[in-house]
Amino acid sequence: MADHYEVLGVSRDASAEEIKRAYRKLARKLHPDVNPAPEASDQFKNVTRAYEVLSDSEKRSNYDATGHENGTGGMGGGFGGGDFGGFQDIFETFFGGGGGSGGMGGGMGGGPTGRARRGQDALIMAKIELEDAVFGTEKTLEVDTAVVCPTCDGTCCQPGTHPETCTICNGQGAIRRPVRSILGTVMAAETCSACQGFGTVIPDPCRECSGQGRIRERTSLTIRIPAGVATGTRIQLAGRGEAGPGGGPNADLYVEIEVRQHDVFVRDGDHLLATMSVPMAAAALGTTLTLDTFDGEQEVPVKAGTQSGEVQTLKELGVGRLRGSGRGDLKVTLRVETPSKLDDKQRALLEQLATLRGEETVHGTTEHRGLFSKFRDNFKNL
Ligand code: ZN
Repeated sequence: MADHYEVLGVSRDASAEEIKRAYRKLARKLHPDVNPAPEASDQFKNVTRAYEVLSDSEKRSNYDATGHENGTGGMGGGFGGGDFGGFQDIFETFFGGGGGSGGMGGGMGGGPTGRARRGQDALIMAKIELEDAVFGTEKTLEVDTAVVCPTCDGTCCQPGTHPETCTICNGQGAIRRPVRSILGTVMAAETCSACQGFGTVIPDPCRECSGQGRIRERTSLTIRIPAGVATGTRIQLAGRGEAGPGGGPNADLYVEIEVRQHDVFVRDGDHLLATMSVPMAAAALGTTLTLDTFDGEQEVPVKAGTQSGEVQTLKELGVGRLRGSGRGDLKVTLRVETPSKLDDKQRALLEQLATLRGEETVHGTTEHRGLFSKFRDNFKNL
């Protein structure tokens, strides 16, 4: 590595002011923002490194005594991972720190941005059966998502390589340049185009993920679906979404539920609804029906004299509550079936019954709405 004094073109006994002046002169000539030549960038690094050592009295005396810098092990190797002169110092030197010094500190916008970003939230659909909504279930879903690259572990670098400090912006992620405005000359920062504001460049991007730090993968995911979900319910799985680029944090995954229709049962909030037919004579005499429910076979009592449309409620056989405990009810609507095909013997028996009950001639009245509407329906069918 070249001698720092030679790099700056000053004598060994140069004053601090001479060193500063020499650096400023070289920096104006070599700064990558001014000089696009590729070798200028390396020269700029060298003069900046030299200036960083010689402008610090402690580092300078150490360098004078040992001929090399502390901390680089005398190898004179690289730049030790971007710890050389802060951008702000350079600019203070570069432009004399005058005028816009007030804006100097605030305008940097916090320095380079990290490569790591949070992944994007994703939404997937899960179709479940009504029974699953009643009791809750576990479901395994196939998800197309992004996972951390197994080759580079999210670093984006081919294994064995590392990001390097961007030489264009000196690792600051932004180029500051003086801009004339009506307020005078102010410092304007713009994102460094060489590193996209990251402050580092990746010389050898990971080949598996093309330097993204993540790859797309189809994975299966087993989730717990609680009782009480309905079509449209969204379950948030924090941190189960896609991995962020550059080793960034995982996003959230949302699972939207769709509950399939059931042949027998209809959902009404926490309740289940069903309809059962009761033969006319059974409705009149009373009986017990059997209904195959999600809880197995249940007896549905039909009391004597049951009217069509009456509801029998089976407590706690409905849907589990999503919030709170317990379950809704199972409500069974009983529909009395009037026989539509009668053989001679049945007809004779019914006529006999009608006679016994004084029902040979019946007039619909508004007081017996059920009867009245039944007649009306019959007329409509004529
Ligand atoms: Zn990778």
